[in-house]
Amino acid sequence: MEFRDLKSQYLALKEAIDPRVMEIMGSAQFIGGKPVRELEEMLADYVGVKHCISCANGTDALMLVLKAWGIGPGDAVFVPDFTFFASAEAVSVTGATPVFVDVLEDTFNLDPKALEQAIRKVRAEGRLTPKAVVAVDLFGLAADYPTLEPLCRREGLMLLEDGAQGFSGAIGDRRNCSFGDAATTSFFPAKPLGCYGDGGAVFTNDDAVAALIRSLAVHGKGEEKYDNVRIGYNSRLDTIQAVILQEKFKALRDYELDDITGAAANYDDLLRGVAQTPIIPQGYTSGWAQYTIKCKDEAQRDHVMTELKARGIPTMVYYPKPMHRQTAYANLAVNEAELAVSTDLCRRVLALPLSPYITPADQEAVAAALKDALHA
Ligand SMILES: *Cc1c(COP(=O)(O)O)cnc(C)c1O
Repeated sequence: MEFRDLKSQYLALKEAIDPRVMEIMGSAQFIGGKPVRELEEMLADYVGVKHCISCANGTDALMLVLKAWGIGPGDAVFVPDFTFFASAEAVSVTGATPVFVDVLEDTFNLDPKALEQAIRKVRAEGRLTPKAVVAVDLFGLAADYPTLEPLCRREGLMLLEDGAQGFSGAIGDRRNCSFGDAATTSFFPAKPLGCYGDGGAVFTNDDAVAALIRSLAVHGKGEEKYDNVRIGYNSRLDTIQAVILQEKFKALRDYELDDITGAAANYDDLLRGVAQTPIIPQGYTSGWAQYTIKCKDEAQRDHVMTELKARGIPTMVYYPKPMHRQTAYANLAVNEAELAVSTDLCRRVLALPLSPYITPADQEAVAAALKDALHA
């Protein structure tokens, strides 16, 4: 069994993807061009924002937004303690300091109350200037933007939605990657919209920030080619990846999202009374980057993983370590007690195999193995 079945997806889309890739090979136009612009328009239109700016990966997308906002040394940027490393890493590469904030035990996303406390604490200490919040759509589910957006406005902080895992999810009729002052996503192969290599994008309604990011992503270019008006980066999406993403986006929009939503609902049914299944708040729809259950404790999770592995069922732990326990952040002083939920989740979460292409038979095998392992 595959954890995320990218092989079946490719077989289903091969006839659409292969000729488009071959066309790019023949054109010898490998960087930028019409396919990239078309993709950006398709994605901006779907998400419901004015600008989509593609770039080299989801980490660069975060960094480009923070740089465009002028964030740097001496600034505090609030980041959930339970996320992929890049959410904080992008803050650190600007020279700013990530301040880790605890998450909610049910949705795994940023806890607005804990965020308010962290902002108050940083202001009271007076060492760093609070500038921005990075909220993550963990496992596909949007953070609590209806609370976070007014909170950030009130506090005078910029809000960045890290939608690397969130693309295709929504709150009501507002799609993920449309929240906050800007949003980002990743096209890493296993994400809800993945390419066949690395890629990423920024979404924003802010014309000035969009123009600045377009410049920063191409060596700080000005109006003319070889006119460089600022120090930037080399962060672009390959043309081949753009045509692959166009075909994969159409499949996601037209049926994959329905299929993966159906598969997640099927797990919910199969695992009722067996395991603690994901909680999706009223009005939210997940992009289902992961289907994550919660075990009782670390020992039970180890046991479940071993039992499932013996039956050829792959599982993953996203994430085994909270941000504040990462060696790279050993220099940051934190109060462990304020990050207790994240620390606890890292010991208990377990992601099950899921993709739009998972079969009911495979899902039944996962449920049966879980039932046996948990003696439920
Ligand atoms: C994958 C991911 C990123 C980084 O994306 P890359 O394209 O791999 O650089 C950032 N944030 C989160 C939450 C992610 O899951």
